[in-house]
Amino acid sequence: MLCGSAYFTMEEINPANISIDKISVPLFVKKEVEVAVLRLDKIHPQVSGNKWFKLRYYLEDAKKENKKTILTFGGAWSNHILATAAACRIHQLECIGIIRGEKPAELSDTLLQARESGMKLFFVSREDYPHQTIPQQFHQEDYYLIREGGYGMKGATGAATILDHCNKEEYTHICCAVGTGTMMAGLIRGAAQSNAIIGISVLKNNLDLEGNIKLLLGDQPADPTIIHDYHFGGYAKYKPGLIEFMNEYYSQTNIPSDFVYTGKLFFAVNDLVENNYFQPGSRLLIVHSGGLQGNNSLKKGTLIF
Ligand SMILES: *Cc1c(COP(=O)(O)O)cnc(C)c1O
Repeated sequence: MLCGSAYFTMEEINPANISIDKISVPLFVKKEVEVAVLRLDKIHPQVSGNKWFKLRYYLEDAKKENKKTILTFGGAWSNHILATAAACRIHQLECIGIIRGEKPAELSDTLLQARESGMKLFFVSREDYPHQTIPQQFHQEDYYLIREGGYGMKGATGAATILDHCNKEEYTHICCAVGTGTMMAGLIRGAAQSNAIIGISVLKNNLDLEGNIKLLLGDQPADPTIIHDYHFGGYAKYKPGLIEFMNEYYSQTNIPSDFVYTGKLFFAVNDLVENNYFQPGSRLLIVHSGGLQGNNSLKKGTLIF
């Protein structure tokens, strides 16, 4: 049993669990598009999906620099916060989470689990949080800083290794959900010649994204294709239609998704296929980037999985 237990060993983070699931629903058959899903969600229930890939070189670097403590930022339901907490436990590092917003009367499921894994939680107001300044009391500590969402070069370098888990040459398109853009930058770096990387932004009007991704690509020329039309109202916002879609998708494919990232991604791919965005004969790989724990913020019974 992994769920609910705070104690993990290295072996329990298991990239060998990653599978590639082919999906052949009537829509894809009709449009003559082949679709497969790279199941990064199966690596670990807490250090799930792209977070393990994004964290790996930061943690390696922290150890190299002999740091004992990781400090990072995130919201109350952040996949990054929980993944960092669990990964630090596994790597026997201390960790501090600077959390957006005043401390609530009741901690979210995510924060409870993070705390159980040993993360020290520190809450800052929504006004102060966006500057990602380090609270006074940590100034003396010798911590290793990881930015919110793991944004940065080392995160992208880690994400570039995601495509080692498939035969990337087989695909014409690789589709992913985009938050900070770190994973997408990594996928662009790790891509084969034949791969067009398509990102679905889950934030509303995040126009800095293209620039932020280019920053992570350094000298590599790139013109990232990001589609901004599937945010459903903004980050962590949703509409009944999205939930219905996620339930339907699960019934048809047995693949669970989350309402912040992968639900919007799968919805977008279906909609793009429906609207002939992909030529017949295209072979798509959708990256399932994990993050299912965030669904715990929904009322019980909202999702059928
Ligand atoms: C964090 C996260 C993303 C976004 O990754 P970025 O590198 O920040 O763009 C996508 N999907 C899931 C499930 C995530 O948890």
